[in-house]
Amino acid sequence: MKLVRVKSVLNRHKKRDKWFLDEYSVNPYTGCSFSCIYCYTRGGTYGRPPHELAAKVNAPEVLDRQLRSAKKGFVALGTSTEPYMGVEGELEITRRILNVLSFYRFPVHVLTKSKLVLRDADIFREIAGRAELPPDLEVSGSLVTVSLSSLDEELASVLEPGAPPPSERLEVVSQLRSMGVEAGLAFIPVIPFLTDGELEDVMRAARMANSSYVFVGALTLPGDLKASFMRFLRLRYPELVPRYRDLFRGSYPSKEYQNDLYDRVAGLIDELGLKFGPHDLPRDEW
Ligand code: SF4
Repeated sequence: MKLVRVKSVLNRHKKRDKWFLDEYSVNPYTGCSFSCIYCYTRGGTYGRPPHELAAKVNAPEVLDRQLRSAKKGFVALGTSTEPYMGVEGELEITRRILNVLSFYRFPVHVLTKSKLVLRDADIFREIAGRAELPPDLEVSGSLVTVSLSSLDEELASVLEPGAPPPSERLEVVSQLRSMGVEAGLAFIPVIPFLTDGELEDVMRAARMANSSYVFVGALTLPGDLKASFMRFLRLRYPELVPRYRDLFRGSYPSKEYQNDLYDRVAGLIDELGLKFGPHDLPRDEW
């Protein structure tokens, strides 16, 4: 892992993200050792050497300067890297970033697959009590979303070779909730013909883990990812290649596929008393 110094760390979006509510994002690291096959950010390192990983060691100080004049809004941590890779245990860059966000009273939404996030439950609670939210939002100012793409440990180890097992991630949701932190489960991405049959089990597992909310999103294959994902299918699941050619005319699965998936999600949300996102996003906005 290289240690680098950066000039800027706060990325401002053109508008608030409808699902995750963030108006800003901060990535404490470049690259990601979890190496998910479906990663569409530059964080993904599937088949790439780990030396592309870098820690932005001065990110907390740079953020401190950049937040002084910024308008309040959710800051997402981990949109293009895992903010709790193992190295965070020593470097504590994410933890120091959270302290800066708390000081300036910014709400935060952390996206992770790692149990190291439990270490920072104290700061999440502090931020929830201090954050100044945009006036139209009635949610906690501190959200932690844990993602998985399969409950099957063997399949997960193929899809996300560097990430902790899915059972550990469900346990993280459950523990965060018992520590008083607003935490949800994201079944993202749902991988057509490989993991979509797990939808009901995942939603029931979210309920069992006392998840505050869920997100469900189908696989997307933008840009170069489509070619690399098809290569992966040819090697591991060649029988799926023609089905994917039919399903993905562009970067998204067909509308019919998405509608069918979200109808099933809506039914399970009603049945299990869950909500889609911390703000209970209505069906027509999924
Ligand atoms: S954990 Fe997230 S950022 Fe890292 S490789 Fe997986 S999808 Fe990409």
